[in-house]
Amino acid sequence: MSNGFYDFSGQLQQLKQQNLYRSRRVVEGAQAVLLQVDGRRVVNFCSNDYLGLANHPGVVAAFQQAADRYGVGSGSAHLICGHSNAHHALEEELAEFTGRERALLFSTGYMANLGVISALIGRRDSVLEDRLNHASLLDGGLLSRAQFKRYRHGDSLDLQARLAECSAKTLIVSDGVFSMDGDLADLPRLADLAKQHQAGLMIDDAHGFGVLGKSGAGVVEHFGLSQHDVPILMGTLGKAFGTFGAFVAGSDDLIELLIQKARSYVFTTAMPAALAEATRVSLRLLQTESWRRDKLHSLIDRFRAGASQQGLELMNSFTAIQPILIGDSQTALAISSALLEQGFWLSAIRPPTVPAGTARLRVTLSAEHEIEQVDALLDALGKVMA
Ligand SMILES: *Cc1c(COP(=O)(O)O)cnc(C)c1O
Repeated sequence: MSNGFYDFSGQLQQLKQQNLYRSRRVVEGAQAVLLQVDGRRVVNFCSNDYLGLANHPGVVAAFQQAADRYGVGSGSAHLICGHSNAHHALEEELAEFTGRERALLFSTGYMANLGVISALIGRRDSVLEDRLNHASLLDGGLLSRAQFKRYRHGDSLDLQARLAECSAKTLIVSDGVFSMDGDLADLPRLADLAKQHQAGLMIDDAHGFGVLGKSGAGVVEHFGLSQHDVPILMGTLGKAFGTFGAFVAGSDDLIELLIQKARSYVFTTAMPAALAEATRVSLRLLQTESWRRDKLHSLIDRFRAGASQQGLELMNSFTAIQPILIGDSQTALAISSALLEQGFWLSAIRPPTVPAGTARLRVTLSAEHEIEQVDALLDALGKVMA
């Protein structure tokens, strides 16, 4: 007799009917602006490799040399025997880069967010999150078993009202740059509210590092704030850093506590040491090659000017994330397929990644794009959306 548990086809069919079915395209070769995808050559406008470091020769060479020295596997968790001097050096450099006492590496950003939130608050506490926070922050809040509240996106009055309702220990959590909209959290306001209410504040700056701030230190640097204002700062290494992994930076005590209590830190294998060595090189490039940031921002300006000339609906973003609001999922999918036909790859972002009725094309720009490629995308958008 067949076991109904394994009858997944109904669910899959339903996703297809709702235009919510997701599928992967196979990329040949390294991340780059020009990619070979499913046998077609395309210009890539959907990567988070904002500075073009994912395949930078210096980063690749550091990875190869470190693999000769450290091998591939790290052998165990950081607390057993997997914490090498490469990891340790990278942590020290990330602490200095972010102007904090210490930094702690995690294997992925998703795991960092689960681990940090659930280590810091529990059943009797509260967590307040922006509605548009990244899924990993929302999941971290749910996993913590604290009372979970979401406030309206970017609405500090709504946050303030909810803070007044929280009696217990409270953690405020927000993206620094919102990953599907590209706008910034009002960090000075969040920092003030957290101080006033004696709440904790955690910022996930996955999309700000490398892109914002004079030295690329992200949204905190952009607003001229410090560890005092944003005591818990998280960043990922798989976006502008061009490698893989994540970190949390803050006070010595915060990091010590996470080492003791963050389960996604304690119970997982350390990232390969060679990856840490490669990231040390990408961190140096991210800080010193400010031309990458400058070029990225001139491309962003160019794109926004061209898109608004065409009457496309942009969002309130001056970061590398430049979504074009479409509305329904089917139209967003149709436009992205038509663009792919013309050799431009950008993703249609649909619910549940974004709220219902706000499907969009998520254009991301990189320092490796050329102005001509941005102009060509604008031309194609004009034709496809006319
Ligand atoms: C990508 C992302 C993450 C997850 O990081 P990974 O290292 O890819 O797991 C977390 N938060 C935000 C805001 C992100 O954009």
